[in-house]
Amino acid sequence: MSDLSNKTVVITGGARGIGAEVARKAVAGGAHVVVADLLEADGQDLVKELGERARFIRLDVTSEEEWQRAADFAVAEFGRIDGLVNNAGISTGQPLETETVEHFRQVLDINLTGVFIGMRTVIPGMKANGGGSIVNISSAAGLMGLALTSSYGASKWGVRGLSKIGAVELGTSRIRVNSVHPGMTYTPMTAQVGIKEGEGNYPNTPMGRVGEASEIADAVVYLLSDAASYVTGAELAVDGGWTTGPTVKYVMGQ
Ligand code: NAD
Repeated sequence: MSDLSNKTVVITGGARGIGAEVARKAVAGGAHVVVADLLEADGQDLVKELGERARFIRLDVTSEEEWQRAADFAVAEFGRIDGLVNNAGISTGQPLETETVEHFRQVLDINLTGVFIGMRTVIPGMKANGGGSIVNISSAAGLMGLALTSSYGASKWGVRGLSKIGAVELGTSRIRVNSVHPGMTYTPMTAQVGIKEGEGNYPNTPMGRVGEASEIADAVVYLLSDAASYVTGAELAVDGGWTTGPTVKYVMGQ
């Protein structure tokens, strides 16, 4: 378990799925957390479960004003922001030819511009505090060309690039910026499109199964912690080996 004692972490999209698991593990690791999401009822239920070191605030990540309000709230409640997990996102897929410009812009606005606004909102405070850790949730779709993900994949490649730019610009300010790339993970997002939990349920990935939200959260908590003190600009695939290549076992010469 990575130690997050005395750290305050803001988690967007933290009301359910991967974000909620990050919140649970961060609190278990000693952190104070601010869960920020559009889903007020789910978010309030979660912070009740997590106890006195957790707060909820409604945040639409596309709004600069709401971002500032969320950051001010975190500082007012817990004194500072040490970690930011840009996890909020939406996912839908259709062929490039039938994707609409309006939907493409909407996905980019939430999944990429939302991450950008979040980073620029917390950077001044982190600089003033002498450092911090930003973990941006990209996707396996940000490491490969995945069919039917023109908007989603473009946003996640953007998140991967933005993370590297942040790492370069902020390294000497002791702010680390890394991206995490989940593979197919069982959450409300993927349950909606028919993904099921269990062994053997995802044969096109080397481990033959989908991931659990808690397995992604472990990687995020590691990157938030001082155990990752020399890790910045990294892209951590937590995907059961999905992005290593095709799972067809080709034997040379046959
Ligand atoms: P989820 O749908 O269960 O959770 C996403 C959360 O983001 C929700 O609580 C939602 O309300 C919130 N959100 C959406 N738009 C928002 C906005 N404008 N402002 C604030 N919050 C908003 O999804 P999840 O599977 O837990 O996904 C979390 C992240 O992981 C996403 O960025 C997703 O793209 C990424 N991811 C998921 C998978 C997977 O297989 N589940 C794979 C790769 C990457």
